[in-house]
Amino acid sequence: MDTSLSRRDFVAASAALATAPFGAPVVWSRSSVKPAVISSSNGHMFKNGGDVTCVEKAYGLIESGGDVLEALIEGVNIVELDPADTSVGYGGVPNMDGVVQLDSSCMHGDKKWAGAVAALEGVRTPSKVAYRVASDTDHHLLVGEGAQSFARNLGFKIEDDLNTERSRKIWLDWKRRIDPAHFLDPSTRKKALMAMIEEGVLDPIHAFGTINCNGIDAEGRIAGVTTTSGLAFKISGRVGDSPILGAGLYVDGSVGAAGSTGRGEANLATCASFVIVEEMRRGAHPTDACLAAMRRIKSNTVEKRLLDDRGRPNFGMEYYAIDAKGRSGGASTNPQGRFALCDSDGPRLVDCAYAWG
Ligand code: ASP
Repeated sequence: MDTSLSRRDFVAASAALATAPFGAPVVWSRSSVKPAVISSSNGHMFKNGGDVTCVEKAYGLIESGGDVLEALIEGVNIVELDPADTSVGYGGVPNMDGVVQLDSSCMHGDKKWAGAVAALEGVRTPSKVAYRVASDTDHHLLVGEGAQSFARNLGFKIEDDLNTERSRKIWLDWKRRIDPAHFLDPSTRKKALMAMIEEGVLDPIHAFGTINCNGIDAEGRIAGVTTTSGLAFKISGRVGDSPILGAGLYVDGSVGAAGSTGRGEANLATCASFVIVEEMRRGAHPTDACLAAMRRIKSNTVEKRLLDDRGRPNFGMEYYAIDAKGRSGGASTNPQGRFALCDSDGPRLVDCAYAWG
């Protein structure tokens, strides 16, 4: 156990000494930061047959002294492995060719680590591979076959097909609806998707999705991870925002962490997670920082096919952020959007700020 006094401890101890009345016992805490883990709402929902959700697992590991990034990775593994979440990992909805291609990234604010994989096939837990890119290499992003052979060489199990019966059925249903001549047209794809939701083939909560999970420990160490099967029925090889540092995830160890679920293309074009962290660097509360990124999305969305009848983006977007003080927040294009939070008060869902409110 490290018994040395960190700068943070020293500052806390000095402040306590300066204000303590003469003779009174000096009481000081190792840190003023309350450990916390936040995530998209699926981090509060799935247990993969176990006892705990993603945020509970990650928070428990952080509380017992585990490394903050390792704890978050173990948390999102629950969702990646749970076939009931069709937007992440094993059983994620496949691409237009029926192949499950996964994207993930992670960042460790304290160690200045970053790692990511994109269009990875055959590994149920892409976040674990992203972690090994960060911990074992001096690269940041591996894609496709290269990412898979990296995983294979490290001993990860490679499977032929990550579809479950359910995800394959969803894909076959989509394929039946889509005119192959028009598969490139996003409105045709969206129409098919909406019809599937209306008819109950796809559950609206999991039709789109990803998990982003960020956390801070009692020493103020911050990390984040994002993992996804990406846009449902995406064009083969399409990579979204989730594995791109600054887009679907960004962490600065002295400022905070931010990540996203929703239309990846909009985040790629605006470096949304980076924007949120930079807003927090300027002193914004995480909620306000998320809202600032939403304004960027709005001003950057001008194509008619991406606008609703009130001139607002017609796609879903959600941001989650935590700062170095342990404050958290989120913003959503859905007025009912919520994020998951777990701290000393336990796990719960918290309302996001409404993007267009
Ligand atoms: N952001 C993900 C992507 O664009 C998808 C999602 O979160 O719905 O790949």
